[in-house]
Amino acid sequence: MSTHISDTLQALQNELPAEVRLVAVSKFHPIEMLKEAYNAGQRIFGESRVQELVQKVPQMPSDVEWHFIGHLQRNKVKQIVPFITLIHSIDSIELLREVERQAALANRTISCLLELHVAQEVSKFGFTPQTLFDMLHSNEWHKMEHIQFCGLMCMATNTDDTSEIRQEFHLAKQTFLEAKRRFFADTPSFKELSMGMTDDYPIAISEGATMVRIGSKIFGPRNY
Ligand SMILES: *Cc1c(COP(=O)(O)O)cnc(C)c1O
Repeated sequence: MSTHISDTLQALQNELPAEVRLVAVSKFHPIEMLKEAYNAGQRIFGESRVQELVQKVPQMPSDVEWHFIGHLQRNKVKQIVPFITLIHSIDSIELLREVERQAALANRTISCLLELHVAQEVSKFGFTPQTLFDMLHSNEWHKMEHIQFCGLMCMATNTDDTSEIRQEFHLAKQTFLEAKRRFFADTPSFKELSMGMTDDYPIAISEGATMVRIGSKIFGPRNY
């Protein structure tokens, strides 16, 4: 097998600031590639489809941290609640309610990020800054005892215009700071900003990302 994966992980670890965590996005890639990354020291893996994730989990060592990064349908929450470490993609109050409900049934507390829509594409999920603050203002989330609020996640527009991307990441950071100040000042876990993918992670880091989600740079192109 090629050494591409371990070499790239090594290079990334040298490049990323110590406080930025790397989520290796392994969606659509075969288990052998995940094992190669694991053997190179990678422990956090990101997947975006429930079916694929639940098939991969039993094939990997138990100290892997699984992160869910894709759009999550409510009727599939139950399948990932037993093992998931972090859900990056909470994009509605209804989804949050279902995670709370399933987490309570499973007697777990689930760490979650709220997904912020800052990109120009209409197709992407998430709260706008306004709908995020409206939701937080409603106070319902306060009563969710099985959810640990850990911060925000966002995706930038898929564009070559780096100033556009930078603006979007900057808005995400400002929104994070405002949410922290207004609603999560007494929540130490609310400290993560998940942003940056293969093509834009250096910009994301310079705008304050604490987690980057990198797939194709590590594993190569995906075969859909
Ligand atoms: C696929 C995906 C990534 C990784 O994308 P790459 O361009 O391959 O690095 C990151 N975040 C989310 C939400 C994704 O769906």
